[in-house]
Amino acid sequence: MRALKASELLRIWDEGQTCSAADRALQLLATIGVTADPRQLATLTIGQRDAYLLQLRQYTFGDVMQARTLCPHCKGPLEFALPVSQLLAAHAMPGPPCWHDLDFEEWHLRFRLPNTEDLFYIAGVGDVNAQREELLARCITDVRRGEKETGIWEMTNEVIRLVVDKMENLDPYAEINLKLSCPECGADWDALFDILGYLDREISMYARRLLREVDVLARAYGWCEADILALSSRRRNAYIGMCGV
Ligand SMILES: [Zn+2]
Repeated sequence: MRALKASELLRIWDEGQTCSAADRALQLLATIGVTADPRQLATLTIGQRDAYLLQLRQYTFGDVMQARTLCPHCKGPLEFALPVSQLLAAHAMPGPPCWHDLDFEEWHLRFRLPNTEDLFYIAGVGDVNAQREELLARCITDVRRGEKETGIWEMTNEVIRLVVDKMENLDPYAEINLKLSCPECGADWDALFDILGYLDREISMYARRLLREVDVLARAYGWCEADILALSSRRRNAYIGMCGV
């Protein structure tokens, strides 16, 4: 794991304008070489992917993320600091993708955890309910009831709930749940934290700032974009200070 360079962030922001969020996540991880073979990235579980994105955020922009939301009770604004180290301390880093078993009463299921390939596939499938069914069909390979081999269409709601719960427990970074409290009215609530959405916004703001810096320095000194991006942020700012901007 390493920090993304300014030139890499600008390229990802530029190329990512026409990609899906899932594509951008893979681009980020491919750039820093999370796996030896980039094709393996799409087979990482969503929780593994997001744990790597948390690390990437920590290396590139620092540990503390600033977040804001609205209290669902009094609608007051809530701003809070969210250290990546705290989120990563909550669970062990996920291991490589593998198969899991679920045994419940006469049911036996073999399943794997959802990954980015699954997200790409179900994006083209009907509504949310159809996508959920397709996701389960892709992730569950064996369904047996007693001695009889059957399929996911025979699974009861209770068995579906159990396997979905087990998937969530086995891949805790797939849904990062925050416990929030409102200092104004005292309300407590749970909120999902989307690291990919957060990084998207952060990279977008950073890229726009970089473009302004390149614009100022290119006009003042005649340097090309690549040379300006190769400077450290501190040196870019020092030169901008000398331009009187
Ligand atoms: Zn409140």
